[in-house]
Amino acid sequence: MFEHRWGQKSLTPEDFDTFHAGKLAEINSYLTQVTNQNQELPCYGEEEIRTLLANRTDILDTLRDTFRLIGPDPGNDPEVFTHVPPIERFTSLPEISYKGADGNNYRRLVKYVPVHIAEHLHDLSNSCNEYITLHTPAGAPKRPGLIVQSGYRSPWYQAIVMLRVIEQYGSANEALRHVTISGQSQHSDPKKTAIDFMVIGNLEGKRTANPESGLMDDTLSFENSMEFGALLLHGPENGFWLPYYPDPKAPLSDLSPSGIKFEPWHWQFVGREKATELMTELHIYEAVAARREAISLSTHTQ
Ligand SMILES: [Zn+2]
Repeated sequence: MFEHRWGQKSLTPEDFDTFHAGKLAEINSYLTQVTNQNQELPCYGEEEIRTLLANRTDILDTLRDTFRLIGPDPGNDPEVFTHVPPIERFTSLPEISYKGADGNNYRRLVKYVPVHIAEHLHDLSNSCNEYITLHTPAGAPKRPGLIVQSGYRSPWYQAIVMLRVIEQYGSANEALRHVTISGQSQHSDPKKTAIDFMVIGNLEGKRTANPESGLMDDTLSFENSMEFGALLLHGPENGFWLPYYPDPKAPLSDLSPSGIKFEPWHWQFVGREKATELMTELHIYEAVAARREAISLSTHTQ
């Protein structure tokens, strides 16, 4: 059984790269096929993953090692992430197709959110879409509205995501700055699940899209987007807060006070009262404003 190892962080990122770097491309291409063929994969627990990969023990070993990686501690309680609820406890968001900022067509696979969050997410999307429509300049292309890039991810699915990101950045150390270790991600919390939103297309037509997703998904694009403005306004009243907010002491830093990268697209559901309290008591609006001010100053002095 792997579960008892989840809390044991015993593998350095460097060791991980030494063991697995040579094989990662092949493993990831196999896992991409598996992901495309199993749309419920984000909700799979250990048993389902073991059945699915029964003839690929090498991949199971590699996944297990992602659980063992030593990385920044996001401060989440690992206890709550070991339970993967049955699929009936989730609502599926259907697959969508869209045009990326590079003009190519992409599809986002089916995503899952816990049933108790779906209604709040629906209300949040409606409010944000109204905001976006209202604030889109006359003549500008119509925006597709708030889109969920990532919802619930079981710890096993998180491990699969981690492998892809390690290959993308070329090292486990760098990947750990972008993705939380399996068993510690807020996306794997079935009660207080985090949702990632995305921005499709860009208004200035300057930035290069992520070649894989076609998304304008770097931090600056997102924080300058109307989608982010809408989330700041309507997130808390619908139960969502911004856990990886900018560091008020170092507004231009990439890191949030948690030690995780500042992630304007990552909103965690904690309920209306708690979300409002956290946004206020941690002075998150002030931190966002301080960062905007610092960015505007640094652009003007260049
Ligand atoms: Zn996230």
